[in-house]
Amino acid sequence: MRRYNKRTNMTNDEATYRSKKLKKSKKAPKLALLGVLSLLVVGLVFYYNINDVRVDVEVLPLMAVPGQPLEGKTIVIDPGHGGKHPGSIGQLGTMERDMTLQMAKEIEQELLERTGATVLLTRKQDETVDLQQRVDMAAEASADLFLSIHFDAFTTRDVEGMTTYHKDSHDQPIAQAVHNRLMEKNFDTRDRGVRVGDYYVLRENTVPALLLELGYISNEKDETRMRSLQFHKEASQAIVEGVIDYFHKR
Ligand SMILES: [Zn+2]
Repeated sequence: MRRYNKRTNMTNDEATYRSKKLKKSKKAPKLALLGVLSLLVVGLVFYYNINDVRVDVEVLPLMAVPGQPLEGKTIVIDPGHGGKHPGSIGQLGTMERDMTLQMAKEIEQELLERTGATVLLTRKQDETVDLQQRVDMAAEASADLFLSIHFDAFTTRDVEGMTTYHKDSHDQPIAQAVHNRLMEKNFDTRDRGVRVGDYYVLRENTVPALLLELGYISNEKDETRMRSLQFHKEASQAIVEGVIDYFHKR
C-alpha cells in the first residue's frame, strides 16, 4: 500500500482506491498475458521434470552401484565359536574364536564403508552364543544373508586351503560368487571349492546362509596368513565383492 501511494503520489485513501482500480483495469490484458506465459512456463517445467524423472529411472541403478551397492540389504555376520567354545587351536597358539571375531569385524567395516548394508554380528566379543541364537538373529532381522566365519582344522598338518559351504541349493550361486572373489586374491593356498555342508547354522537357517572356512589353523602356512591384518583386509574385500556381485547379477 505504501509503495503504491508513493508511486501515484496520492495519500488520500479514496484516491488510492480509485487509482488502484484504474491501474488494475489498465493492467488486465497484461496480467492475462502474464498468466498465459506463467502457465506455459509451468507447463514446460512440468514437461521437462517428467522427462528428467524418466532419465533418472534409467540412470539411477547404474549410478547407485559404486556408492551404495547393498542399500536396503541386511547381512548377519557370524564369528564362529566364542566364549566356552574356542574352536580349533593352531600350532602357533592361534585360537579360532579370536580369528573369526577379527575377520567378522573386518568384514563388517568393509560392508559399512562400501555398501550401505545394515550389518549385524551374532557376537561382538569373546562370549558364548549358542547356534540357535545365531540362527534366530538372522530370522528376526529378515536378513538377506547369514555369513558364518570359520577356520578349518585337520589331524594332519599338511592339509590346507579354503572352502565355501552352503546347504540349500538356492545358496549355491552366492557361495560361488564369494568363493570366486576369494580365489581371485591368489592366497597361496588350496582351492577346496564350493561344497554342500550340513552345518547347524546352514541347515537351521531360514535365510540364505554361507559358512566360510578361510584356511586351516592346523596348517602352519595357513595359520600364519590368517593372523595377518593384510589377510583380514584382503579376504574381507573379496567376500564383500562376492556378495555385491551376487546381488547385482540377480
Ligand atoms: Zn569353526
